[in-house]
Amino acid sequence: MSDAPHHLQLLHGRVALITGASRARGIGLATARLFAQHGARVALLDLDQAEAMQAARSIGDAHVGVGCDVRDPQACAAAVAQVLQWGGRIDVLVNNAAITQKRGVLDVSAEDFEQVVAIALHGTFQMSQCVIPAMTAQGSGSIVCISSMSAQQGGGVFGGSHYCAAKAGVLGFMRALAKEMGPMGIRANAITPGLIMTDFSRGANSDENKHALGKTFPLGRVGRPEDIANACLYLASDLSSFVTGATLDVNGGAYMR
Ligand code: NAP
Repeated sequence: MSDAPHHLQLLHGRVALITGASRARGIGLATARLFAQHGARVALLDLDQAEAMQAARSIGDAHVGVGCDVRDPQACAAAVAQVLQWGGRIDVLVNNAAITQKRGVLDVSAEDFEQVVAIALHGTFQMSQCVIPAMTAQGSGSIVCISSMSAQQGGGVFGGSHYCAAKAGVLGFMRALAKEMGPMGIRANAITPGLIMTDFSRGANSDENKHALGKTFPLGRVGRPEDIANACLYLASDLSSFVTGATLDVNGGAYMR
């Protein structure tokens, strides 16, 4: 899609920050690209500063890449300060960074648990804490938390029980945020993706397997990163101006509640 005219751009003049956004086939970069097409200036955060900068360059000159490990509270605060200095405001935060480990409950070590929860849940908490003062001062903001279908159905294709617990925790946190921050004009919502064709499983599940699984879903295919990016755009923009505390299932019908 080429950039839409300004009056059709849903994020014209907005500044968005997306964590875990540098993977070529990832949901974060697809979301950054769509936000950019809709007029946002996007800060792409990821573990590796050079990769984050390269990802930002790949979507245009108006965007910035920032190295940030969301497990580290000081790194989160520094990244948000840098983005504020660069962009002057933060309208949208997408809490996207996570890792997964597929293993049985008895095989999850204390370190495994700590690592998965530190990124998906504590990282979401910390990044939200860091952007709230700026959003409160603006009197507006949208926080989008990427959870997972596995939080709803007790496991997914990739996730172990610790991953499910972290992603379910994200849903609880998002609702508390929506309740507490609504009066300040800040909305918080979550997306629960089903199986999406990215490198999230780091090769543990082949693309062929994912396509085969996708054929069993009501919509007959595996999800694309752009499917989640579209849902992020809805929740980030004024299209969802009266939506907060919501969980948006984007799973091709694989799980219905
Ligand atoms: P992905 O490409 O692996 O994206 C995750 C990103 O997070 C990667 O860029 C990764 O960096 C980054 N990251 C990992 N640890 C980090 C840390 N400590 N600090 C900052 N960034 C960190 O996978 P994805 O599929 O796009 O996943 C995006 C989100 O969707 C995740 O929250 C995931 O749980 C969720 N989700 C995915 C699926 C699916 O089927 N793909 C389904 C449900 C939910 P590196 O590249 O350096 O590792």
